[in-house]
Amino acid sequence: MSFDLNSLLRPHIAKLQPYTSARDEYTGKEGVFLDANENPFGSITEQDFNRYPDPYQSALKEEIAKIKGVRPSQIFLGNGSDEAIDLLYRAFCNPGKDNVILLPPTYGMYEVSANINDVEIRKVALTPDFQLQPEKILAAADANSKILFICSPNNPSANKAKREDILYLLEKFPGLVVVDEAYIDFSDEPSFTTELDRFPNLLVMQTFSKAWGLASLRLGMAFASEELIRILNKIKPPYNISGLTQETVLAAIKDKAKVDRMIQDILAEREFLNGELEKLPFVQKTHPSHANFLLVQIPNANQVYNDLIEEKIIVRNRAKVLLCADCLRITVGTREENEALLKALSKVCS
Ligand code: PMP
Repeated sequence: MSFDLNSLLRPHIAKLQPYTSARDEYTGKEGVFLDANENPFGSITEQDFNRYPDPYQSALKEEIAKIKGVRPSQIFLGNGSDEAIDLLYRAFCNPGKDNVILLPPTYGMYEVSANINDVEIRKVALTPDFQLQPEKILAAADANSKILFICSPNNPSANKAKREDILYLLEKFPGLVVVDEAYIDFSDEPSFTTELDRFPNLLVMQTFSKAWGLASLRLGMAFASEELIRILNKIKPPYNISGLTQETVLAAIKDKAKVDRMIQDILAEREFLNGELEKLPFVQKTHPSHANFLLVQIPNANQVYNDLIEEKIIVRNRAKVLLCADCLRITVGTREENEALLKALSKVCS
């Protein structure tokens, strides 16, 4: 299918003259900097933060490109992946006219962001075993369907979508296809970043919040064609990633081996927790997980959720979510945390 990104773009964004910051206009590192109205005496803090950071995070993107096997120009960095989600709506969806396709049960921000931006949502449920329904998705789409959000591995169901279904939708869907891979590091599935050069309508999201353990720093990644990345860069707030975040992640990324060890530890704990949960007579089902959490079906999940809080164990109650009746979403913890959960569960369910 031929794909023209410009025809999807909102006309005023195509015409937009972006803000040019001081750090855009002069990118050299040497000199007396009197161009950005910064404080010349330093900062109130021990570490100096008085200079504005690199608006396009070039050094950081160079390193991310190496570990992700993409070009730096194919990377957008956001204040969490949530920023990329919002920017996509603002770039492509005309309020009151365009629509997006969401596949519940899935990550809640796609819907909230659509509502913030006054964009119509068309929902096509996953199957009871949480797989995509490609033909129904295509039937729900029309010329105003700008974005399809596919979360794989999916939150809250923890499973991955079938690769061939995503590839089929990449070929047939008339708008952008976002594959949210926030949990990809916990899956045996290769990333869709390998398909970027084949599909100009693909955008892959990943995050430093999960496997890298940096949820509080707020750093999300989007990988896409250079043309699409240019659009996101054009409309993002100029300094959306703090200097502290850029420096911290740049230093940390050199120790990728530590991340790999943490992933292995989480996978081992997931296996332990899954095995122990399955031994409990009151657990009806633990859904197969490709993420760092388990979706667990337990009778009277609402009551169990509240009883667990009394025991100071906090899980996520998904019982009201479509296809997740009586389900709790449990993040894989350390061995001590997992054992505390198991003990509390046995107590409140006995
Ligand atoms: N996508 C999915 C599927 C998520 O579950 C989450 C966070 N729970 C995010 C994106 C957001 O991640 P970030 O911290 O990068 O905003």
